[in-house]
Amino acid sequence: MSRARKPDWLKMRPPSGRRFTEIKQILRDYDLHTVCEEANCPNLGECWSGSDNAPGGGTGTGPGTATIMLMGDRCSRGCNFCDVQTGGMDPLDEDEPENVARAIAEIGLDYVVLTSVDRDDLPDQGAGHFARTIRAIKSRQPETLVEALIPDFQGEPELVQKIIAAEPDVIAHNVETVERLQWPVRDRRANYEQSLSVLEQVSESSDSYAKTSLMLGVGEYDHEIYQTPGDLREIGVDVVTFGQYLQPSRSHLEVSNHVHPDAFSVWQRVAEEEFDFLYCASGPLVRSSYRAGELFVEAILR
Ligand code: SF4
Ligand code: SF4
Repeated sequence: MSRARKPDWLKMRPPSGRRFTEIKQILRDYDLHTVCEEANCPNLGECWSGSDNAPGGGTGTGPGTATIMLMGDRCSRGCNFCDVQTGGMDPLDEDEPENVARAIAEIGLDYVVLTSVDRDDLPDQGAGHFARTIRAIKSRQPETLVEALIPDFQGEPELVQKIIAAEPDVIAHNVETVERLQWPVRDRRANYEQSLSVLEQVSESSDSYAKTSLMLGVGEYDHEIYQTPGDLREIGVDVVTFGQYLQPSRSHLEVSNHVHPDAFSVWQRVAEEEFDFLYCASGPLVRSSYRAGELFVEAILR
């Protein structure tokens, strides 16, 4: 397969601005990792700078959004689309839950996305540490909205239940792609059915909103994309996002095609109007956490 040239709509603005520098420093002070940096997220400039780099400009004094990655920057899995390093896992930092809560208070985030690498090496796969972090944030600042973007915990319901019991506002788990392409896109330990079972448990046994995300441009057909929101709504998922897959390096899975922004708009309409999702964020640079707070609050107030 030849390497497809990046179209203009995927050009990114480099991160900059006072807010960006300030958040970076606070995260360094508390020794925290973010997906924004580890995954080379194309929205880093916009999210971290508040509205500085947003289309149309802005003051850059808004709260900004960041996705904090818990339990280190090395993952026990190796998905073929992901830039996080595999293996050589660090011991858990027992101070991390409190440090995250302090950093979020210092940055002044209203909505925080917490996620983690997969920790198949730990007895509870890190579910307890994840739940402790949610509780630390909520006990320091109960008004902060927390989205927990969780691993599949190998489909073990009691581990998902630990997250549910911590009562985050949103529990997200990404199916990443359509059913047929789970492998080679994701690590072999992940699969569609297991991910749906996690989302179904969230939707049936918690008051949290259930959310998931897909990358397009990894070789899926339109009828397979169409099938996915149907599967998700059937088990009660509330929010879905679609974004373009971007190859982090030549050793990662190749981009199969660049989906046009108009096609992303069509998938948004399909999700919201045909399948009645609470909301769908869909666009070439959309990632699971892109404008997550703003869109969530808008949607629940509608
Ligand atoms: Fe970070 Fe998510 Fe924004 Fe990307 S979209 S910069 S991961 S908050
Ligand atoms: Fe990346 Fe896959 Fe690990 Fe998630 S489970 S951090 S996508 S390698």
